[in-house]
Amino acid sequence: MNITELARTLKVTPLELKEKLPELGFHIGKKAIQIPDEQAEKVVEKWREMREKEKKEKRLVGIVEEKIEKKEEIKEIYLPPNIQVYRLAEKLNLPLNKVMAELIKNGVFTGLNEEIDYEIAAIVAENLGFKVKRQEKEEKIETTLKEKIKEIIKGEKKEDLVKRPPVVVVVGHVDHGKTSLLDRIREANVAAGEKGGITQKIGAYQIEKNNRLITFIDTPGHEAFEAMRERGGEVADLAILVIAADDKIKPQTLEAIKIITKENLPFVVAINKIDKPEANPEKIKKELSEINLIPEEWGGKTICVPLSAKTGQGIDNLLENLLLLADLTEEKLLANKKGKTLATVIESRLDPGVGPVATVIAFNGLLRVGDSVIIGQSYGKIRTMKRENGEIIKEASLSQPVKISGFKRMPLAGEILEAVGDLNEFKKRVKKLEAISFREKIKLEGGKKKGEKKLKIVLRAESAGSLDAVAEALGKIQDGEVKLEIVKKEVGRPTETDVVLCQKINAEMIGFNVDFSLTVKELCEELGVKLYSSEIIYHLIDYIQKEIKALQGPKIVEEKKGTFKILATFGKSKGSQIIGGKVITGEINNGLKTKIWREDKIISEGLIKNLQINKEDVQRVGAGLECGMLFTSDEEAKEGDILEVYEVKEFKA
Ligand code: GDP
Repeated sequence: MNITELARTLKVTPLELKEKLPELGFHIGKKAIQIPDEQAEKVVEKWREMREKEKKEKRLVGIVEEKIEKKEEIKEIYLPPNIQVYRLAEKLNLPLNKVMAELIKNGVFTGLNEEIDYEIAAIVAENLGFKVKRQEKEEKIETTLKEKIKEIIKGEKKEDLVKRPPVVVVVGHVDHGKTSLLDRIREANVAAGEKGGITQKIGAYQIEKNNRLITFIDTPGHEAFEAMRERGGEVADLAILVIAADDKIKPQTLEAIKIITKENLPFVVAINKIDKPEANPEKIKKELSEINLIPEEWGGKTICVPLSAKTGQGIDNLLENLLLLADLTEEKLLANKKGKTLATVIESRLDPGVGPVATVIAFNGLLRVGDSVIIGQSYGKIRTMKRENGEIIKEASLSQPVKISGFKRMPLAGEILEAVGDLNEFKKRVKKLEAISFREKIKLEGGKKKGEKKLKIVLRAESAGSLDAVAEALGKIQDGEVKLEIVKKEVGRPTETDVVLCQKINAEMIGFNVDFSLTVKELCEELGVKLYSSEIIYHLIDYIQKEIKALQGPKIVEEKKGTFKILATFGKSKGSQIIGGKVITGEINNGLKTKIWREDKIISEGLIKNLQINKEDVQRVGAGLECGMLFTSDEEAKEGDILEVYEVKEFKA
């Protein structure tokens, strides 16, 4: 048969046919024109076998390649037993509507704040391309103040228990009049005998009404609200929800309601600014009913007090209602004056002459000068104690806010204070604390080294309009893998709570057209939180870009070079193995890394130490060629395994 004719049958050129024939075991010479018919038939048969084999190999390589690609896409994620929908979206780093849509697809109709259980969350995450693992119950780091108090009270004798004054927090939307209301209550009701005294704002104050005391948390700006949000309303026994009668229920009002309800805090709605001509308290009541907070006068349980922080109208009524609520929640207010001292930090600051000072309120036991105390991560001996009017005292009673000093480190708002009477126990606890803070430091430093792929910031701006504009401009910044995450954005001056939040989550404090108070600056320094503020948006953008750049570690990329099929193995010693095989795709080089694929799984990784063709050392082998290879790996490779050969490349940011 004519070679050209045979080549045509096999759909190749005569030249290609002649090059391949020796590989198939036919030696007809380069110049031959004819081939015996019998041999031609055998060539056709061998050719078909070869093609089949190649096809099979290609298929296998295809499967492996697909797996490789898929593997790169699949991200592993740990999910807790329960998770709120918006938290799930945050964890998956996906838009909320995508997660919601996936939930609906699976027949789950739920709100973004609602919790779904692990099983549902896992299905959603898997459908969205994640590999999900169950996270063991989130470790409870701290016991809450309320739990601690409950625990203590349980052990106390009934006859030792007294009712302490209620602690009230004022919450509501910005500009609805929280500060004005707190100021008005304080001015009008300072305890008898103190009128005219110079009072200092220390984060909380006490008033007297009908011969009973009420403590108000009066933190600057929106601290109380923030503390409520972060600490879950732990500090307060009762709440006042302020809504301006000339406005309506706003997002922060709703958020406040959510916290109040979650914490089961009895509350009074103060419908403020009724002195204004455009005030419409009835409209507010209607809006409250629409969210199932039916006013008492309409047959519901929600106490609504129309008032004016400006004129003082209705304030007495508000206070009386608070006392009434306190009577109804008597059990929660029981405490033992002589029992173990437990208090919480309302506010703290660094006093240049004195060191860290904190305003605290005791919920059980009495606070005394000289007591050894542990506060969160700090400890010390109470050195000085002052009331809000500056009076120096030696002992603070239940629910009485006092400013104390004597700590080693700055206590933080919301932390629990415990008096530790026994000095040995105190020393033991301090040692433990120091060990914990050392461990945390290591953890933090370790975490930083690995390189966060996100620049987290807390953003504050002077107005709602500029806040949105700045957030939008900054949100567009991205550099490589590092993204900007605005963890929180709010109008107004940065607060201490912002700083504490920054420290907790390793974020930076950013301000646009707002100044940082001295306290906030000091706290940033104390806690090692970076802060930056500017009135010029381009400066902010520049700054963020620089910070993002700094976070970019070298980018490590695995660049695929080729695939190699193992056709034979020739023994193994101390992790090295000699194998023979064929390069199927790409090109492989000496010194490159490999992944060993067995069927559709990677069984081990390895490194090419030496390549040989016909016993001659070579540096690289191209596709289609067979070669011998010395390579190292932990697992023994077998005939039929496929090596994925790749190069590790580092790119500097
Ligand atoms: P906050 O942001 O909730 O603390 O609100 P502020 O107490 O700072 O009040 C916001 C604005 O509303 C200020 O200009 C107050 O003077 C004004 N305001 C507060 N309460 C009243 C009120 O009862 N009547 C009137 N007319 N204005 C009020």
